[in-house]
Amino acid sequence: MADPASESRFGFVAVLGAPNVGKSTLINRMVGAKVTIVSPKVQTTRIRVLGIVVRDRSQIVFVDTPGIFAPRRRLDRAMVAAAWKGAGDADLICVLVDAARGIDANTGRILDGLRESGRKAVLVLNKIDTIKREKLLGLSAELNATGLFGDTFMVSALKGDGVDDLFDYLAGQVPEGTWHFPEDQLSDLPQRLLAAEITREKLFLLTHEEVPYSVAVETELWEETRDGGVRVEQSIYVQRDSQRPIILGKGGRLIKRIGSEARRELADMLGRQVHLFLHVKVREKWADERDHYRVWGLDYNA
Ligand code: GDP
Ligand code: MG
Repeated sequence: MADPASESRFGFVAVLGAPNVGKSTLINRMVGAKVTIVSPKVQTTRIRVLGIVVRDRSQIVFVDTPGIFAPRRRLDRAMVAAAWKGAGDADLICVLVDAARGIDANTGRILDGLRESGRKAVLVLNKIDTIKREKLLGLSAELNATGLFGDTFMVSALKGDGVDDLFDYLAGQVPEGTWHFPEDQLSDLPQRLLAAEITREKLFLLTHEEVPYSVAVETELWEETRDGGVRVEQSIYVQRDSQRPIILGKGGRLIKRIGSEARRELADMLGRQVHLFLHVKVREKWADERDHYRVWGLDYNA
């Protein structure tokens, strides 16, 4: 029998919180200098990877579920529903609250959504360096009275207080399973995933009918170049031969446009030069390949 102490763990942790509560600061601190996190912006992504990190025997992928806001139009409602589904697919949900700001409208909506989802979350009260202890305990009691939280952590993401305890806890809570990412590739993985999502988004916007739903994008190569830039090679998978010329466009015009728009956005995000190369390949069964689903935090059997 395997030594139980050597079992590896792997899981997705969804991080929810109003703008400015300190999500980026907290994840930066846990992920550390090893992984450079791409400053993410709102986009039509399935998930947004904030960081991938190893703690003891656990590999943790921190994901953001974009678009949790007050929905007005049908599309907004659909996006919010998808965002909550994203949180539901994660193995753990962390809700961050700015201890000084307390429960504002945005946090209120997150609590409402959590209630509807029926999931229990981990409460993280951040910025404890900014308020008095009595106020902190009052806020913790008020939030815990909702019955939505299993455990509570009080941290200062900025100063580091309490962060190790939270990190250990998360590492112990993600399910047993094999790591999905090789440890030595950690440093550029979030960028690889994001880069693939950017290209997929352009494909989505610039193609029609069934095509946007038939493509997958994978970053195959990520290499530093001598000029301080990065060379990125991606495969665009389509399901049928007939979809290849659609994506290439007349005289290769469409793929050129997709490439230049994706390249520009990626260069903006990274703040450096990007040389992007796209290869369109037919892979009939990509949608049946289980690996993609795990990478995207999606339920293969849904
Ligand atoms: P996000 O929008 O939730 O990702 O929030 P950020 O991580 O960008 O942080 C928003 C602001 O709060 C930044 O100015 C941070 O420096 C600050 N901040 C984050 N955590 C703490 C903390 O623990 N204490 C204090 N005093 N400021 C913090
Ligand atoms: Mg942020």
